[in-house]
Amino acid sequence: MNPLAVYVHIPFCTVKCGYCDFNAYAGLDGLKRSYRDALLAEIAGRSTDLSRHTVTSIAFGGGTPGEQPAEDLIAVIDAIRDSTGIAPDAEISLEVNPGTTVEPYLRALQSAGVNRVSIGAQSFDAQELQFLDRIHSVQAIGATVLSARRANIESVNIDLIFGLPGQTPRQWEANLEHALGLGVDHVSAYALTVEEGTRLGHRVSAGEVEMPSEDILADLYGIATARLEQAGFHQYEISNWAATGHQSRHNRTYWEYGEYLGLGAGAHGFFEEERYENIAHPRQYITAALAGPPGVIAEAYHPDRATAVIDFLALRLRLLEGFPLAEFKRRFGLDIDTVFGEPLGRALDAGLLNYHDRRLALSQSGHLLHGEVVAQCLAHLRSHPGVVDGAAAAAR
Ligand code: SF4
Repeated sequence: MNPLAVYVHIPFCTVKCGYCDFNAYAGLDGLKRSYRDALLAEIAGRSTDLSRHTVTSIAFGGGTPGEQPAEDLIAVIDAIRDSTGIAPDAEISLEVNPGTTVEPYLRALQSAGVNRVSIGAQSFDAQELQFLDRIHSVQAIGATVLSARRANIESVNIDLIFGLPGQTPRQWEANLEHALGLGVDHVSAYALTVEEGTRLGHRVSAGEVEMPSEDILADLYGIATARLEQAGFHQYEISNWAATGHQSRHNRTYWEYGEYLGLGAGAHGFFEEERYENIAHPRQYITAALAGPPGVIAEAYHPDRATAVIDFLALRLRLLEGFPLAEFKRRFGLDIDTVFGEPLGRALDAGLLNYHDRRLALSQSGHLLHGEVVAQCLAHLRSHPGVVDGAAAAAR
Protein backbone atom coordinates (compact mmCIF):
# COMPACT_ATOMS: atom_id res chain seq x y z
CA MET A 1 0.00 0.00 0.00
CA ASN A 2 1.36 3.39 -0.96
CA PRO A 3 1.77 5.99 1.76
CA LEU A 4 -0.49 9.02 1.50
CA ALA A 5 -0.78 12.31 3.37
CA VAL A 6 -4.23 13.87 3.76
CA TYR A 7 -4.83 17.59 4.21
CA VAL A 8 -8.23 18.76 5.49
CA HIS A 9 -9.03 22.45 5.11
CA ILE A 10 -11.32 24.18 7.62
CA PRO A 11 -11.92 27.70 6.25
CA PHE A 12 -13.61 29.45 9.19
CA CYS A 13 -12.01 32.21 11.30
CA THR A 14 -13.37 34.58 13.94
CA VAL A 15 -11.65 37.55 12.30
CA LYS A 16 -9.87 37.83 8.95
CA CYS A 17 -6.35 39.03 9.75
CA GLY A 18 -5.10 41.96 7.71
CA TYR A 19 -2.06 40.15 6.28
CA CYS A 20 -3.80 36.86 5.45
CA ASP A 21 -4.50 35.66 1.93
CA PHE A 22 -5.39 32.08 2.93
CA ASN A 23 -8.75 30.67 1.93
CA ALA A 24 -10.26 31.75 5.25
CA TYR A 25 -13.56 33.52 6.03
CA ALA A 26 -14.96 35.36 9.03
CA GLY A 27 -18.69 35.40 9.71
CA LEU A 28 -19.56 32.02 8.20
CA ASP A 29 -19.74 29.98 11.41
CA GLY A 30 -23.35 29.04 10.61
CA LEU A 31 -21.98 26.82 7.82
CA LYS A 32 -19.83 24.67 10.10
CA ARG A 33 -22.26 21.77 10.49
CA SER A 34 -23.05 21.44 6.77
CA TYR A 35 -19.34 21.85 6.04
CA ARG A 36 -18.69 18.77 8.18
CA ASP A 37 -21.31 16.87 6.13
CA ALA A 38 -19.67 18.08 2.91
CA LEU A 39 -16.26 16.83 4.04
CA LEU A 40 -17.76 13.44 4.87
CA ALA A 41 -19.37 13.34 1.41
CA GLU A 42 -16.01 14.20 -0.22
CA ILE A 43 -14.28 11.44 1.75
CA ALA A 44 -17.00 8.97 0.73
CA GLY A 45 -16.43 9.97 -2.90
CA ARG A 46 -12.69 9.37 -2.44
CA SER A 47 -13.08 6.00 -0.69
CA THR A 48 -11.76 3.99 -3.66
CA ASP A 49 -8.74 6.32 -3.98
CA LEU A 50 -8.11 6.13 -0.25
CA SER A 51 -8.44 2.34 -0.16
CA ARG A 52 -5.32 1.97 -2.34
CA HIS A 53 -3.17 3.76 0.25
CA THR A 54 -2.13 3.78 3.86
CA VAL A 55 -2.59 7.19 5.40
CA THR A 56 0.63 8.29 7.09
CA SER A 57 -0.52 11.76 8.14
CA ILE A 58 -3.66 13.86 8.43
CA ALA A 59 -3.33 17.63 8.86
CA PHE A 60 -6.23 19.89 9.76
CA GLY A 61 -5.31 23.36 8.51
CA GLY A 62 -7.18 26.54 7.81
CA GLY A 63 -8.65 28.89 8.65
CA THR A 64 -8.94 27.91 12.27
CA PRO A 65 -9.64 24.18 12.52
CA GLY A 66 -9.23 24.32 16.31
CA GLU A 67 -12.58 26.16 16.45
CA GLN A 68 -14.50 23.45 14.57
CA PRO A 69 -16.40 21.24 17.05
CA ALA A 70 -14.23 18.31 18.15
CA GLU A 71 -16.90 15.78 17.13
CA ASP A 72 -16.75 17.09 13.54
CA LEU A 73 -12.99 16.58 13.32
CA ILE A 74 -13.29 13.15 14.96
CA ALA A 75 -16.00 12.23 12.41
CA VAL A 76 -13.55 13.15 9.62
CA ILE A 77 -10.75 11.04 11.13
CA ASP A 78 -13.17 8.12 11.57
CA ALA A 79 -14.41 8.42 7.98
CA ILE A 80 -10.83 8.31 6.67
CA ARG A 81 -10.12 5.33 8.93
CA ASP A 82 -13.26 3.56 7.64
CA SER A 83 -12.07 4.09 4.03
CA THR A 84 -8.51 2.90 4.44
CA GLY A 85 -5.77 2.05 6.89
CA ILE A 86 -4.23 4.78 8.99
CA ALA A 87 -0.65 3.83 9.88
CA PRO A 88 -0.25 3.15 13.62
CA ASP A 89 2.43 5.84 13.84
CA ALA A 90 0.55 8.34 11.65
CA GLU A 91 0.93 12.00 12.49
CA ILE A 92 -2.45 13.69 12.99
CA SER A 93 -2.05 17.42 13.44
CA LEU A 94 -4.30 20.35 14.19
CA GLU A 95 -3.74 24.09 13.80
CA VAL A 96 -5.14 26.07 16.72
CA ASN A 97 -5.29 29.72 17.68
CA PRO A 98 -4.32 30.66 21.24
CA GLY A 99 -7.15 31.28 23.63
CA THR A 100 -9.81 29.38 21.72
CA THR A 101 -8.76 25.82 22.48
CA VAL A 102 -9.19 24.29 25.91
CA GLU A 103 -7.88 21.10 27.47
CA PRO A 104 -11.07 18.95 27.27
CA TYR A 105 -11.33 19.76 23.57
CA LEU A 106 -7.71 18.71 22.95
CA ARG A 107 -8.16 15.65 25.17
CA ALA A 108 -11.10 14.48 23.03
CA LEU A 109 -9.03 14.92 19.87
CA GLN A 110 -5.98 13.25 21.40
CA SER A 111 -8.15 10.21 22.13
CA ALA A 112 -9.11 10.18 18.43
CA GLY A 113 -5.43 10.14 17.40
CA VAL A 114 -4.38 13.81 17.21
CA ASN A 115 -0.74 13.89 18.29
CA ARG A 116 0.51 17.24 17.03
CA VAL A 117 -0.78 20.74 17.66
CA SER A 118 0.46 23.82 15.85
CA ILE A 119 -0.29 27.06 17.69
CA GLY A 120 -0.66 30.24 15.63
CA ALA A 121 1.07 32.45 18.20
CA GLN A 122 2.84 34.72 15.64
CA SER A 123 4.21 37.07 18.35
CA PHE A 124 4.54 37.54 22.10
CA ASP A 125 4.39 41.33 21.83
CA ALA A 126 0.94 42.88 22.40
CA GLN A 127 1.54 45.68 19.90
CA GLU A 128 2.75 43.28 17.23
CA LEU A 129 -0.32 41.11 17.80
CA GLN A 130 -2.49 44.18 17.37
CA PHE A 131 -0.70 45.14 14.15
CA LEU A 132 -1.34 41.62 12.81
CA ASP A 133 -5.05 41.81 13.85
CA ARG A 134 -4.57 38.78 16.07
CA ILE A 135 -7.28 38.60 18.70
CA HIS A 136 -5.42 36.55 21.31
CA SER A 137 -3.44 37.79 24.28
CA VAL A 138 0.17 36.93 25.04
CA GLN A 139 -0.98 34.97 28.12
CA ALA A 140 -3.33 32.85 25.99
CA ILE A 141 -0.35 31.39 24.11
CA GLY A 142 1.18 29.87 27.25
CA ALA A 143 -2.24 28.65 28.38
CA THR A 144 -2.72 26.83 25.06
CA VAL A 145 0.70 25.16 25.28
CA LEU A 146 -0.21 24.02 28.80
CA SER A 147 -3.58 22.66 27.63
CA ALA A 148 -1.85 20.69 24.86
CA ARG A 149 0.66 19.24 27.35
CA ARG A 150 -2.07 18.30 29.82
CA ALA A 151 -3.98 16.64 27.00
CA ASN A 152 -0.87 14.51 26.26
CA ILE A 153 -0.31 15.91 22.78
CA GLU A 154 3.10 14.54 21.75
CA SER A 155 4.36 17.45 19.62
CA VAL A 156 3.67 21.13 20.10
CA ASN A 157 4.67 23.69 17.49
CA ILE A 158 4.60 27.45 17.69
CA ASP A 159 4.26 29.61 14.57
CA LEU A 160 6.05 32.95 14.69
CA ILE A 161 6.21 35.84 12.22
CA PHE A 162 9.23 38.13 11.95
CA GLY A 163 9.99 41.22 9.89
CA LEU A 164 7.06 43.33 11.05
CA PRO A 165 7.47 47.04 10.20
CA GLY A 166 9.83 48.58 12.73
CA GLN A 167 10.53 45.31 14.54
CA THR A 168 13.92 45.50 16.22
CA PRO A 169 16.35 42.60 16.70
CA ARG A 170 15.70 42.90 20.43
CA GLN A 171 11.92 42.53 19.97
CA TRP A 172 12.43 39.49 17.76
CA GLU A 173 14.85 37.94 20.25
CA ALA A 174 12.26 38.45 22.98
CA ASN A 175 9.69 36.55 20.89
CA LEU A 176 12.10 33.66 20.44
CA GLU A 177 12.92 33.59 24.16
CA HIS A 178 9.22 33.48 25.03
CA ALA A 179 8.64 30.57 22.65
CA LEU A 180 11.64 28.66 23.99
CA GLY A 181 10.55 29.39 27.55
CA LEU A 182 7.31 27.52 26.90
CA GLY A 183 9.22 24.32 26.18
CA VAL A 184 7.73 23.69 22.74
CA ASP A 185 9.06 20.94 20.46
CA HIS A 186 9.04 22.79 17.15
CA VAL A 187 9.19 26.37 15.91
CA SER A 188 8.10 27.68 12.51
CA ALA A 189 9.28 31.22 11.75
CA TYR A 190 8.12 32.99 8.60
CA ALA A 191 8.88 36.50 7.38
CA LEU A 192 5.79 38.66 7.11
CA THR A 193 4.89 38.83 3.43
CA VAL A 194 2.75 41.43 1.76
CA GLU A 195 0.06 39.75 -0.29
CA GLU A 196 -1.91 41.58 -2.94
CA GLY A 197 -5.53 42.23 -2.04
CA THR A 198 -5.00 42.07 1.74
CA ARG A 199 -5.49 45.03 4.09
CA LEU A 200 -1.74 45.01 4.72
CA GLY A 201 -1.14 45.08 0.96
CA HIS A 202 -3.35 48.19 0.63
CA ARG A 203 -1.64 49.90 3.56
CA VAL A 204 1.81 49.27 2.07
CA SER A 205 0.69 50.53 -1.38
CA ALA A 206 -0.77 53.66 0.24
CA GLY A 207 2.56 54.35 1.94
CA GLU A 208 1.03 54.01 5.42
CA VAL A 209 3.33 51.14 6.32
CA GLU A 210 6.96 50.57 5.36
CA MET A 211 8.20 47.01 5.23
CA PRO A 212 11.73 46.13 6.41
CA SER A 213 14.61 45.88 3.94
CA GLU A 214 16.08 42.55 2.85
CA ASP A 215 19.15 43.26 5.00
CA ILE A 216 17.00 43.66 8.10
CA LEU A 217 15.13 40.45 7.27
CA ALA A 218 18.43 38.61 6.85
CA ASP A 219 19.57 39.86 10.27
CA LEU A 220 16.34 38.74 11.95
CA TYR A 221 16.51 35.37 10.22
CA GLY A 222 20.13 34.96 11.34
CA ILE A 223 19.09 35.66 14.93
CA ALA A 224 16.44 32.91 14.74
CA THR A 225 18.87 30.43 13.22
CA ALA A 226 21.54 31.07 15.87
CA ARG A 227 19.21 31.14 18.87
CA LEU A 228 17.14 28.09 17.95
CA GLU A 229 20.22 26.02 17.11
CA GLN A 230 21.77 27.10 20.42
CA ALA A 231 18.63 25.89 22.20
CA GLY A 232 19.09 22.44 20.65
CA PHE A 233 16.64 22.74 17.77
CA HIS A 234 17.64 21.32 14.42
CA GLN A 235 16.77 23.39 11.36
CA TYR A 236 15.48 21.00 8.72
CA GLU A 237 13.62 23.39 6.41
CA ILE A 238 14.06 27.04 5.52
CA SER A 239 11.46 28.16 8.08
CA ASN A 240 11.26 25.18 10.44
CA TRP A 241 13.23 24.01 13.48
CA ALA A 242 12.54 20.85 15.49
CA ALA A 243 13.72 19.12 18.63
CA THR A 244 14.84 15.55 17.95
CA GLY A 245 11.93 13.40 16.77
CA HIS A 246 9.55 16.33 16.27
CA GLN A 247 9.87 17.26 12.59
CA SER A 248 6.51 17.68 10.86
CA ARG A 249 6.07 14.45 8.92
CA HIS A 250 3.04 15.80 7.07
CA ASN A 251 4.84 18.92 5.86
CA ARG A 252 7.88 16.84 4.91
CA THR A 253 5.62 15.01 2.46
CA TYR A 254 5.04 18.29 0.60
CA TRP A 255 8.72 19.21 0.59
CA GLU A 256 9.72 15.72 -0.50
CA TYR A 257 7.43 16.09 -3.53
CA GLY A 258 5.23 13.33 -2.16
CA GLU A 259 1.57 12.75 -2.95
CA TYR A 260 -1.26 14.06 -0.81
CA LEU A 261 -5.01 14.28 -0.95
CA GLY A 262 -6.49 17.70 -0.20
CA LEU A 263 -10.03 17.77 1.18
CA GLY A 264 -12.27 20.78 1.80
CA ALA A 265 -12.88 24.21 0.32
CA GLY A 266 -9.95 25.48 -1.73
CA ALA A 267 -7.77 22.51 -0.75
CA HIS A 268 -4.99 21.57 -3.14
CA GLY A 269 -3.98 17.98 -3.82
CA PHE A 270 -1.27 16.10 -5.70
CA PHE A 271 -2.62 12.66 -6.29
CA GLU A 272 -1.59 9.99 -8.80
CA GLU A 273 0.41 12.53 -10.84
CA GLU A 274 -2.51 15.00 -10.96
CA ARG A 275 -2.58 18.36 -9.26
CA TYR A 276 -6.01 19.72 -8.38
CA GLU A 277 -7.70 22.51 -6.48
CA ASN A 278 -11.16 22.38 -4.91
CA ILE A 279 -13.82 25.09 -5.17
CA ALA A 280 -12.68 27.87 -2.82
CA HIS A 281 -15.84 29.35 -1.32
CA PRO A 282 -17.24 27.21 1.51
CA ARG A 283 -20.88 27.72 0.48
CA GLN A 284 -20.25 26.61 -3.12
CA TYR A 285 -18.00 23.79 -1.95
CA ILE A 286 -20.75 22.48 0.37
CA THR A 287 -23.35 22.58 -2.41
CA ALA A 288 -21.03 20.74 -4.81
CA ALA A 289 -19.88 18.12 -2.28
CA LEU A 290 -23.41 17.29 -1.18
CA ALA A 291 -24.55 17.03 -4.81
CA GLY A 292 -21.76 14.58 -5.68
CA PRO A 293 -18.11 14.84 -4.72
CA PRO A 294 -16.42 14.91 -8.16
CA GLY A 295 -18.00 18.35 -8.59
CA VAL A 296 -15.89 19.86 -5.78
CA ILE A 297 -12.80 20.02 -7.99
CA ALA A 298 -12.48 23.46 -9.58
CA GLU A 299 -9.33 22.73 -11.56
CA ALA A 300 -7.18 19.68 -12.24
CA TYR A 301 -4.21 19.09 -14.51
CA HIS A 302 -1.31 16.77 -15.10
CA PRO A 303 1.81 18.92 -14.76
CA ASP A 304 3.97 18.84 -17.89
CA ARG A 305 7.59 17.76 -17.47
CA ALA A 306 8.92 21.32 -17.22
CA THR A 307 6.44 22.16 -14.45
CA ALA A 308 7.20 18.90 -12.65
CA VAL A 309 10.98 19.47 -12.61
CA ILE A 310 10.58 23.05 -11.34
CA ASP A 311 8.10 21.93 -8.66
CA PHE A 312 10.51 19.21 -7.56
CA LEU A 313 13.46 21.60 -7.42
CA ALA A 314 11.51 24.31 -5.57
CA LEU A 315 10.15 21.90 -2.97
CA ARG A 316 13.23 19.76 -2.41
CA LEU A 317 15.52 22.76 -2.02
CA ARG A 318 13.37 23.95 0.89
CA LEU A 319 14.70 21.01 2.92
CA LEU A 320 18.16 21.74 4.26
CA GLU A 321 19.28 18.22 3.37
CA GLY A 322 18.55 19.02 -0.30
CA PHE A 323 18.31 16.01 -2.58
CA PRO A 324 20.55 13.45 -4.29
CA LEU A 325 21.08 14.16 -7.98
CA ALA A 326 20.41 10.45 -8.59
CA GLU A 327 16.85 10.98 -7.40
CA PHE A 328 16.27 13.71 -9.96
CA LYS A 329 17.59 11.33 -12.62
CA ARG A 330 15.41 8.47 -11.38
CA ARG A 331 12.23 10.55 -11.30
CA PHE A 332 12.63 12.44 -14.54
CA GLY A 333 15.20 10.42 -16.53
CA LEU A 334 17.32 13.58 -16.80
CA ASP A 335 20.70 14.81 -15.66
CA ILE A 336 20.09 17.95 -13.66
CA ASP A 337 23.18 19.56 -15.23
CA THR A 338 21.69 19.19 -18.69
CA VAL A 339 18.52 21.00 -17.63
CA PHE A 340 19.68 23.53 -15.03
CA GLY A 341 23.48 23.51 -15.38
CA GLU A 342 23.70 27.21 -16.19
CA PRO A 343 21.52 28.76 -13.41
CA LEU A 344 22.63 26.25 -10.78
CA GLY A 345 26.28 26.89 -11.74
CA ARG A 346 25.75 30.63 -11.14
CA ALA A 347 24.08 29.92 -7.77
CA LEU A 348 27.01 27.65 -6.78
CA ASP A 349 29.51 30.35 -7.77
CA ALA A 350 27.56 32.88 -5.71
CA GLY A 351 27.75 30.60 -2.69
CA LEU A 352 23.99 30.02 -2.53
CA LEU A 353 24.23 26.24 -3.01
CA ASN A 354 26.28 23.40 -1.58
CA TYR A 355 27.17 20.34 -3.59
CA HIS A 356 28.48 17.40 -1.54
CA ASP A 357 28.29 13.63 -1.99
CA ARG A 358 26.30 14.14 -5.19
CA ARG A 359 23.61 15.99 -3.24
CA LEU A 360 22.47 19.52 -3.95
CA ALA A 361 21.28 21.79 -1.13
CA LEU A 362 20.98 25.48 -0.36
CA SER A 363 23.88 26.92 1.62
CA GLN A 364 23.28 28.93 4.78
CA SER A 365 23.43 32.18 2.80
CA GLY A 366 21.10 30.71 0.19
CA HIS A 367 18.22 30.02 2.59
CA LEU A 368 16.60 33.41 2.24
CA LEU A 369 17.33 33.44 -1.50
CA HIS A 370 15.54 30.18 -2.25
CA GLY A 371 12.92 32.05 -4.30
CA GLU A 372 15.65 33.75 -6.35
CA VAL A 373 17.45 30.46 -7.15
CA VAL A 374 14.17 28.86 -8.26
CA ALA A 375 13.20 31.96 -10.27
CA GLN A 376 16.53 31.80 -12.13
CA CYS A 377 15.92 28.15 -12.98
CA LEU A 378 12.38 28.92 -14.15
CA ALA A 379 13.63 31.81 -16.30
CA HIS A 380 16.22 29.46 -17.82
CA LEU A 381 13.50 26.93 -18.71
CA ARG A 382 11.36 29.67 -20.25
CA SER A 383 14.20 30.99 -22.36
CA HIS A 384 15.16 27.47 -23.44
CA PRO A 385 11.82 25.90 -24.22
CA GLY A 386 12.27 22.25 -24.99
CA VAL A 387 15.37 21.82 -22.84
CA VAL A 388 13.50 19.29 -20.68
CA ASP A 389 12.03 17.30 -23.54
CA GLY A 390 15.24 17.68 -25.60
CA ALA A 391 17.32 16.38 -22.73
CA ALA A 392 14.90 13.53 -22.20
CA ALA A 393 15.06 12.57 -25.89
CA ALA A 394 18.88 12.67 -25.79
CA ALA A 395 18.88 10.46 -22.69
CA ARG A 396 16.78 7.80 -24.45
S1 SF4 B 1 -6.44 33.23 11.92
FE1 SF4 B 1 -4.95 32.44 10.41
S2 SF4 B 1 -6.18 31.71 8.68
FE2 SF4 B 1 -7.54 32.97 9.97
S3 SF4 B 1 -7.46 34.99 9.00
FE3 SF4 B 1 -5.90 34.98 10.64
S4 SF4 B 1 -3.98 34.31 9.60
FE4 SF4 B 1 -5.70 33.83 8.23
